[in-house]
Amino acid sequence: MDNRTLSRRDLAVLWHPCTQMHDHEELPPIPIRRAQGVWLEDYDGRRYIDAISSWWVNLFGHANARINAAVAAQLDRLEHVILAGFTHEPIIELSERLVALAPRGLARCFYADSGSAAIEIALKMSFHYWRNRSEPRRTRFLCLTNSYHGETLGALSVGDVPLYKETYEPLLLKPVRVPSPDCYFREPGESYEDYARRAFAHMEEALAAHARETCAVIVEPLVQCAGSMRMYDPLYLKLLREACDRHDVHLIADEIAVGFGRTGTMFACEQAGIRPDFLCLGKGLTGGYLPLSVCLTTEDVYQAFYAEYAALKAFLHSHSYTGNPLACAAANATLDIFRDDDVIARNRVLADRMATALAPLTDHPHIAEVRQTGMIAAIEMVRKKPREGYPWQERRGRNVYRYALEHGALLRPLGDVVYFMPPYVIAPEQIDQLGAIAREGINRATAG
Ligand code: PMP
Repeated sequence: MDNRTLSRRDLAVLWHPCTQMHDHEELPPIPIRRAQGVWLEDYDGRRYIDAISSWWVNLFGHANARINAAVAAQLDRLEHVILAGFTHEPIIELSERLVALAPRGLARCFYADSGSAAIEIALKMSFHYWRNRSEPRRTRFLCLTNSYHGETLGALSVGDVPLYKETYEPLLLKPVRVPSPDCYFREPGESYEDYARRAFAHMEEALAAHARETCAVIVEPLVQCAGSMRMYDPLYLKLLREACDRHDVHLIADEIAVGFGRTGTMFACEQAGIRPDFLCLGKGLTGGYLPLSVCLTTEDVYQAFYAEYAALKAFLHSHSYTGNPLACAAANATLDIFRDDDVIARNRVLADRMATALAPLTDHPHIAEVRQTGMIAAIEMVRKKPREGYPWQERRGRNVYRYALEHGALLRPLGDVVYFMPPYVIAPEQIDQLGAIAREGINRATAG
């Protein structure tokens, strides 16, 4: 079997995610035969460094021996069982461990199978909480501009990336949108912290106006990932937690992309010292092996649903594969690696290496900003500094994507923002290699 044959067969029957399929006339999908560590290998024997962790899911490399062994062992015991009325050891262990790891006070785990589904759960649970507490006027959510929380209708409603959302607007909930603390827009010389404080005035105002009709504020802590890897200061989260308490509104932290060490701490919320009322996790939860997500919440929320059946207060939400044991086994093995290998400290060294690899780009005439939070580094290409972007029709980022593929790396820019979000097992020299590929790809994409 070779790349051409497989991509031809693929294009006859598949419809790929987040893709204008017409683009494949020019650049067919690449069939991957096997993967090991950070490397993906296609059927023609070409190899690519997976610089984006296969859509931000992979933490400890492909075909990780420890996760492989855990999934294989689980496969011999129990592949799946209904989670209503039944339970199993891997999910009990995982829940105990998540409660112990998460910010103190998040005491209950409700599972699903994708990030979007975890967001739907948080939104429904918060809404339902206020009903159960006899506050039915609370029907709205507050979200940030440039946010992203998934593609299902509820999750899309509280997101704000027009490319994904605009078409579906007539179908969606109408949240209150509050200007993001995104530090790309800070004034020259203004610190991240000062900008966060300034941006927070909008949130304070929105809460003052809408708190009584609001269920929750939903945010991606520290990095708006799908919104071009835009970053902000932890101070914003601290101010937000205080304001949510003052206004008696829930706080939903979507750590689906930033959880599990991505931002330099196990959870991004830790950097602000806060506990959200709902913490949504997914992606890296299973080390990138199997679909699993979870919404953690507090005992207070749990108790609002706990009553005699006839009170009709139960949260009757379900997905067929909720809490799949194979996925839980992968998640437990992933947490074992965090426990045993001092991952967060090692990531600090890798993050420094990324900063060094990208430093030469800061003065580039077509780069507005090189920004980084832990193991996420992003480079924003512009036509003209400080912030005049290229017309989107020119698709400059796509040229970087192609260049990188030809030179052995999977980089998948978000528009004109090139970013690295590699598995934590990447070697320092591989980071240098990625840096060189990105630099040359960007030079070519911005020439002319
Ligand atoms: N929230 C955030 C912050 C995300 O980055 C994503 C996925 N990119 C989601 C939610 C949705 O997760 P999923 O794709 O697993 O539905």
